Amino acid sequence: MRLSQYFLPTLKENPTEAQIVSHRLMLRAGMIRQSAAGIYTWLPMGLRVLRNIERIVREEMDRAGAQEVLMPTIQSADLWRESGRYDAYGKEMLRIVDRHDREMLYGPTNEELITQIFRDNVRTYRELPRTLYQIQLKFRDEVRPRFGVMRGREFLMKDAYSFDVDYESAKKSYETMFNVYFKTFKRLGVTAIPMRADSGAIGGDLSHEFHILAETGESGVFYDVAYDDLMARDQVDLETVSKLYAATDEKHDPNHPDAPPPDRIRTARGIEVGQVFYLGTKYSKAMNLVLPGPDGAEIVPEMGCYGIGVSRLVGAIIEARHDDKGIQWPESIAPFQVGLINLKAGDAAVDAACEDLYAKLPSCLYDDRDERAGVKFADMDLIGLPWQVVIGPKGVAAGIVELKSRATGEKQELSVESALARLNS
Ligand code: ATP
Ligand code: MG
Repeated sequence: MRLSQYFLPTLKENPTEAQIVSHRLMLRAGMIRQSAAGIYTWLPMGLRVLRNIERIVREEMDRAGAQEVLMPTIQSADLWRESGRYDAYGKEMLRIVDRHDREMLYGPTNEELITQIFRDNVRTYRELPRTLYQIQLKFRDEVRPRFGVMRGREFLMKDAYSFDVDYESAKKSYETMFNVYFKTFKRLGVTAIPMRADSGAIGGDLSHEFHILAETGESGVFYDVAYDDLMARDQVDLETVSKLYAATDEKHDPNHPDAPPPDRIRTARGIEVGQVFYLGTKYSKAMNLVLPGPDGAEIVPEMGCYGIGVSRLVGAIIEARHDDKGIQWPESIAPFQVGLINLKAGDAAVDAACEDLYAKLPSCLYDDRDERAGVKFADMDLIGLPWQVVIGPKGVAAGIVELKSRATGEKQELSVESALARLNS
């Protein structure tokens, strides 16, 4: 993509409405624009990152055997009356009346709808276990939408639902999803610590929240120093995790039997980017999802639900990965891998060298604008692509380019061939 043609409305000044760094940077880097309180448009640069996160989430879900569906955002109030949550949910639910006076709502979550789909379409216990998921917009009429996409009203969530024949099997599904989360957050380039959690309005009695550590996090978090080692692993089992103490301020109890002594406990702030719940039969029972079981007797499937805040993650990852100049994207989700800076647009030799490199780099944003070098450097640092290649008249004469890592700031002068080899490796 050529920057001269890209829809990238960057801002030089800090927007006054943004209180935290990720919100400021997302606005300044031309990723999003607000259209109403807590409701955003994703511009091309932001959407690329959002889609990359979605892709990683989807790959890990699929790898674990979960199957993707797409449920509607608008649901019927009657469905929610079956579980009793229509009245219980309160003001966060956006309620709508259609032209025939039917009560509808914009889904804040989908336990009811997925339970209905199972009830209407699954005939025997032999079809279990199954985990279905979607990546779909949700709406929660938050009292105080803030921090940009981190606490929006409309936001993108990956929500998955598992159905099992019994508790043992449901526990396994929970553990599988737990590991999907573990891997997914790793691939996204962040550390997200699993914490014991209350299951709140969703229900059930086993739940973990995954928190990315960042100063601006909304929750206080307390965890055993042993997590440092655990988080380095590729896989975890629930038993190991449940022995290790980690809790948010809502649940933290220094006198809890599992709580480590004060010198082995870390205190930080965290951003909740995902939560997993074992639901038991809360929804299956309420909504009369019953299947013939192995011995002819009926069974009520055990459920779990598993959410990831896909749009919140964009902000949360920036909170965890930025400096005073801008964003530092991990390669796995960067909107482009390379930013190519032409230091003298209009100079035939420099243009030719840039065009040549641009044609050979599959994921490159080429700053071909007729702008001062300072402006180009500042913009490139702001948008935070992992690699920058700088080409100017002197370099062209000597046959070299400058390669800079955005994360470390490390610069290297290389021949065009070596730079290409590095970037394509
Ligand atoms: P919170 O405690 O932050 O309000 P929650 O516990 O109500 O979130 P869940 O029902 O667990 O949210 O939803 C799954 C995930 O969706 C959360 O872990 C979070 O990452 C994301 N999420 C929830 N609410 C919002 C929101 N208002 N804006 C953006 N993402 C959200
Ligand atoms: Mg939650």
